[in-house]
Amino acid sequence: MAKFRLKSLFDQDSESLEFNPNLSCRSWQELTKHTNNCFACGLHKSRTQVVSGRGQKGADLLIIGEAPGQVEDEKGLAMVGDSGTLLNIMLDSVGLNSYYITNVVRCRPPDNRNPTLAECQSCWGFLQSEIALVKPKTILCLGKVATKAILDSSSKFERLMRTRHQYFEYPVWVAYHPAYLLRQPQKHEHSPKWETWQILCQVKLYLNGCRQPR
Ligand code: URA
Repeated sequence: MAKFRLKSLFDQDSESLEFNPNLSCRSWQELTKHTNNCFACGLHKSRTQVVSGRGQKGADLLIIGEAPGQVEDEKGLAMVGDSGTLLNIMLDSVGLNSYYITNVVRCRPPDNRNPTLAECQSCWGFLQSEIALVKPKTILCLGKVATKAILDSSSKFERLMRTRHQYFEYPVWVAYHPAYLLRQPQKHEHSPKWETWQILCQVKLYLNGCRQPR
């Protein structure tokens, strides 16, 4: 089973944890039941509701963000605020239309702070279950939290964006988080938006290749 690999993202000292098989939900119903009744970390105290992934359940592409913001907390769905709007536009622009979007953490961290290691650990089994249930052809990590959670690499984030990686049987791509892109208006060559768009094009090409008859 997947080892828990988030430790190095955070300054806090913590034991590496084994994947908790009790959180391995074997159906979408089980996943919903367990997530909605999760009180494993302190985020349950301030949440309006647990935020679910959105999109096609058997999608080719699984997109992993960080944690819900205010809009997601109100609506109960991942990436439906400004970041999600930008992401939708970018996905549409390259014709990526079979996707499922989720987060490393399912409850909103207060004041939009980054989730802590303990909060990511609490949700880890849910994310693993979701990956297994979607069974995507490939995974796209948005931003540092998702990238560190999945790849646990000490390389610089910008470096990780340059190549395709592997997480068990899943090819993994890394791109800037749309919340960061919202603060970067430039669209010229090698700007963060341009780089992200290039990565989405590569994902699209990869998926087109997957669909070719063998
Ligand atoms: N909303 C989400 O659901 N996830 C993010 O990472 C950011 C905003």
